[in-house]
Formats: sequence, C-alpha cells, structure tokens
Amino acid sequence: MIAIKPKNNNQQTIEDSLFVKGIGLHSGKDVELKLEPAEVDNGIKFIRVDSKKNNIIEAIWSNVSETLLSTTISNEYGLKISTIEHLMSALSGLHIDNLNVYINTAEVPIMDGSSRPFVDMIEKIGIKKQNKKRKFLNVKKIIEVSHNNSSVKIIPNNQFSIDFEIDFPSQLVSRQSCQLQLINGNYKTDIAAARTFGFEKDVEHLRSNGLALGGSLDNAVVVGENEILNKDGLRYTDEFVRHKILDSIGDLYLAGSPIIGYFYGNKSGHYLNNQLLRKLFSDESNYEYIA
Ligand SMILES: [Zn+2]
Repeated sequence: MIAIKPKNNNQQTIEDSLFVKGIGLHSGKDVELKLEPAEVDNGIKFIRVDSKKNNIIEAIWSNVSETLLSTTISNEYGLKISTIEHLMSALSGLHIDNLNVYINTAEVPIMDGSSRPFVDMIEKIGIKKQNKKRKFLNVKKIIEVSHNNSSVKIIPNNQFSIDFEIDFPSQLVSRQSCQLQLINGNYKTDIAAARTFGFEKDVEHLRSNGLALGGSLDNAVVVGENEILNKDGLRYTDEFVRHKILDSIGDLYLAGSPIIGYFYGNKSGHYLNNQLLRKLFSDESNYEYIA
C-alpha cells in the first residue's frame, strides 16, 4: 500500500511566542503557559519553570506515566506534567512539529474543555514552515491492544484515518460512532471544538479524590440524569465521541511523528492509546519512517 503524505510536509513551528492563562481541570490551580518556537527536530517539549533543574519533559510515548482521566508524562527525575492531551491534539491537528512549552505548574490548563482555544491562538500568532522535511511513521502491521471491554487497534493504511465508538450507560450519550479522515484542515471544523465531558453523578466522588477541582460548566459538558446541564447544550450532536477522537489524536501524537495508519478505538481512552504505542514501538518491523 502506498502511503499518501500530506502535501506540505516540511516541519513547522509557530511564528512567535504565545502566552496562555487558564486553570488546571484536576488541580484547580491557576496556570501560565508560554509556547515558544523551536528548531527543527526539537519535537514537543514541556519545561517546568517552577523547577530550577532537570525540568524538561519530552512529549513522547515512553514518558507517559499515568493515564487515569488524563495523560501525564514524567521525566527521569520524576517531574510530571499532566492533562497534556488537548494541547497535543491541537498541535497534531495544526501540524506543529517543534515547540517548547514553558509551564509554571504540573497541569496544562483546561481552557474551555476542547482544543479550540489552542488552535485559535496558534493560528492567530501564525504557523511557520521550517526548512527540513517532516518524517512520518508508517504503520506496517496490525497492532491491537484490549483491556476489559475496550480495545484499540491501528491498521496499515495509505493515510491517517480515525474511527471511534463509545457506549455509555446514559440515554444522553449512549452509543455514538464517528469516522474521519484528517485531511484539508478538517481537524479544526470537525474535532477541535468538542469538549471534555463528565457525569453529574460522578462529580462528588471525583472531587473527594482530589480530581476535577477546576471543573465547571465553563470547561466541560456535564451530563445529568435527564439533561445536559450546560445551558447552551452541545456543540456537535455527537460531541462526546468527537472528544474521544480529539483525545486520541493528542495521545497518538506522542508517537513523536504524524502516523500514517487507520486507528480504531472502541470504548477506549488514554491507557489503551499509550499501550498501543508501546506495542507498536516494541518491534521495529511494525513500522517504518518515511520522509
Ligand atoms: Zn479530553
């Protein structure tokens, strides 16, 4: 099968530094981020400015250390950065290869619960084409992992496609499926605005465990027993499955290169997304790099 690479396949960064303020969904803490342009082959790196040394954490699958409710990466010194998936998703969707993310605490701000604020800010500051070709990770074998009722797989394909199914025991969410080929910038229109979601019945339990402390109707869709609690309702009729796609795109970008392959997720999340990458990279005959 011949892999179709996107037409513009030079590496990219942003035109200028970008400042972002927000709060951490789980920590509830105020967060300041500074996104800075980076040289070719830098990749995406997080730098904890609240720590004086050993404070660089590379955004790569092998650094994933926790996957409960969000994706957390850690460096070899145990310094962490959590809830990276929505920013990583925006960077993947906009084809940003090289970026340094300076952050003053351990959690990326949740913004409005989607990746759209990051997408809008990056587009406003501008995307800079760099003078070196990007490499793509071409999947050569079917890789599949499963856990309980959930599974993910990636299949050789001639471009990046994503297919996701969810099935929640709530009449307001229930079964949804969505299939997309991410081409011609449709990430921005079809995925970026989909917000994270949670169930009203779970909020108290999460908070008593020190989670979702920054969560509100301003940064999550909250599903009640019989209604969506956000007064403006949903942004897409199938916003829930689209958000799971948004998350998966962010998690898969931890491969370190854009993937060429067909991804299928079934009731899965951050844990299996990372297990899939670990299995993919466990055998060099599973993949190849093409420039
Ligand atoms: Zn998410």
